[in-house]
Amino acid sequence: MGRSFFFDEGVKIGIDLGGTKIEIVAIAQDGSELTRRRVPTPAGDYEATLDALAELVREVETQLGEHGTVGIGSPGAISAATGLLRNSNSTALNGKPLARDIAQRLARDVRVANDANCLALSEATDGAGADSAVVFAAILGTGVGGGVAVDRRVLAGHNGIAGEWGHNPLPWCRDDERPGPACYCGKAGCLETFLCGPALAREFTLVGGGECTPTEIVAAAHSGDLRAQGVLTIFEDRLARGLAQIVNILDPNVVVIGGGLSKIARLYKNLPPLIERYAITRPIDVRVRPAQHGDSSGVRGAAWLW
Ligand SMILES: [Zn+2]
Repeated sequence: MGRSFFFDEGVKIGIDLGGTKIEIVAIAQDGSELTRRRVPTPAGDYEATLDALAELVREVETQLGEHGTVGIGSPGAISAATGLLRNSNSTALNGKPLARDIAQRLARDVRVANDANCLALSEATDGAGADSAVVFAAILGTGVGGGVAVDRRVLAGHNGIAGEWGHNPLPWCRDDERPGPACYCGKAGCLETFLCGPALAREFTLVGGGECTPTEIVAAAHSGDLRAQGVLTIFEDRLARGLAQIVNILDPNVVVIGGGLSKIARLYKNLPPLIERYAITRPIDVRVRPAQHGDSSGVRGAAWLW
């Protein structure tokens, strides 16, 4: 079957449960991908979402002819106290005991983790942070999240919120950055309100650049648009400030960036010296890398939860 060394260990099934789509992957013990599929998320319907998850697992196991372990990555956090999911942008899942309910349908234990923790675990296992003791993963997309892997294990934390970087305030604020935009979490000036994709687009509009996507802003900067260059420079400075705090507290070997904004290539050259400028000591050695598995990292990290 091509995985003869590991046949007795079984397959690892990972599921990325997003707001718009559910993706499932099965990987062998060596990380090679056995199968993958995706379906739309039943919008706003918790029971239908559970059905879809269970059906996907059954289909994959039928195809492979064996049972596997199941890990699920989802936006939001699992409360350590209650086992309930919270802070998910798939709001139909909030307040639901996702791990318990899906375990019941599949008649086995499942592990559920935050999507940023899955990214950290995936990249720590066989991606941009392989061979690194401490990996911090930041998701920069429509929202901003963070996750931590230590020695190839998720560091979930006592309350299940370790790495919740996006809702810390932007540090070393300038006067014009105070109090910062209102955040859905109820506070203002959270890193997410400065570092998510929509925030980058908003800043460009504010300097008179018009309505552009982050990709268009990067392209404009490349072709010499000074407003786009200025907005990206400020964005990088803010991102570096946020990451310098992580470096001061956690001192990761590598910072891995995922999400839509991870495609901004200049980040990987510009961020390390900026982080060093804000960190407590210098020189510092911190690598900043894009997620090696790209958009697949979350679902692979879910599989690696076992
Ligand atoms: Zn917030």
